[in-house]
Amino acid sequence: MKEDYYDVLGVSKSATAAEIKKAYRKMALKYHPDKNPGDSKAEEMFKKSAEAYEVLSNPDKKARYDQFGHAAFEGAGGFGGGGMNMDDIFSQFGDIFGSAFGGGGGFGGFGGFGGGQRRAKGSNLRIRVKLTLEEVANGVEKKVKVRRKIQADGVTYKTCGTCGGRGQVTKITNTILGRMQTATTCSSCSGSGQVLDKKPSDADAQGLKIQEETVSIKIPAGVEDGMQLKVPGKGNDAPGNGVAGDLLVAIETEEHATLKREGDNLHYDLYISISEAVLGTSKEIDAVGGKVRIKLEPGIQSGKILRLRGKGISSLNGYGNGDLLVHVNVWTPKELNKEQREFFERMQGNENFDPKPEKSDKSFFEKVKDMFS
Ligand SMILES: [Zn+2]
Repeated sequence: MKEDYYDVLGVSKSATAAEIKKAYRKMALKYHPDKNPGDSKAEEMFKKSAEAYEVLSNPDKKARYDQFGHAAFEGAGGFGGGGMNMDDIFSQFGDIFGSAFGGGGGFGGFGGFGGGQRRAKGSNLRIRVKLTLEEVANGVEKKVKVRRKIQADGVTYKTCGTCGGRGQVTKITNTILGRMQTATTCSSCSGSGQVLDKKPSDADAQGLKIQEETVSIKIPAGVEDGMQLKVPGKGNDAPGNGVAGDLLVAIETEEHATLKREGDNLHYDLYISISEAVLGTSKEIDAVGGKVRIKLEPGIQSGKILRLRGKGISSLNGYGNGDLLVHVNVWTPKELNKEQREFFERMQGNENFDPKPEKSDKSFFEKVKDMFS
């Protein structure tokens, strides 16, 4: 039995297009082959979720699926032949992750695929970039120093003698099915069709030498810890007429001292004294765009959540900004002097001090429900 597409993405049948997209984005990040090298289960989940998204993100296909289930796609044009291929999946990514991640293979790429005649590609370089929450929120351009292998001056190449410049060699093998002809990448030139002719003394056996280079990386706002960006052509050069590899940038995010991230929203715990809660006050809060002053009305309740719209993180998808949610906590003094103690004793049973929760003073659970709806 084929698994239900809604179950695959972990969303309900009434999920909105935005919820479906969000769920798929999460799955794609979790099961991305770059994050799970050699894990065939992860690859299967990656493909399954892509297939589910392909259907549920298309209003036409979704309507057919809702009516007929998997039977809607059996036969011609269906997924009967083993689901989507990796190229199809990666071509969806521009839509899901924004243009920063590019189209086919852009999101970290997919090293081992391809085949056939190709220009040799230099190896990829990998670096980590640590970002503060402010940098994540607003996007940032980082300059990093990388040690790339580049083609040394004075290197010359000649046509590969093994493959005659074709980059491939054909082999005839006898199998139980008869004689089979297979083409494999030429091992003498790694498929480039060219081999080193002359090289200066400071170059390695491939005619390359290491050079330090400063690379500028534009990091879009809203990235998450563990994501990988690609800077094309900033990896190592390939020998001969090949193309340079890519620079793969792993994103690491630092914890913020006072702000906690949840999706595109930020949370801040604000502590105020009893007298501030009673008399009202104004407070300055560290937000990602700088300090923000907020006013607290007299009689504000502990547990109240103030929502500062748009003061969260810019969405990676370009769907606007998240919010900053300020959680108000009233600090109860643990020690009192005689005068203070007498005051509070006198207030015991006083009508003004009796709790009288109103409809607007929602319970914690109602607030949480609101926040996620
Ligand atoms: Zn060759």
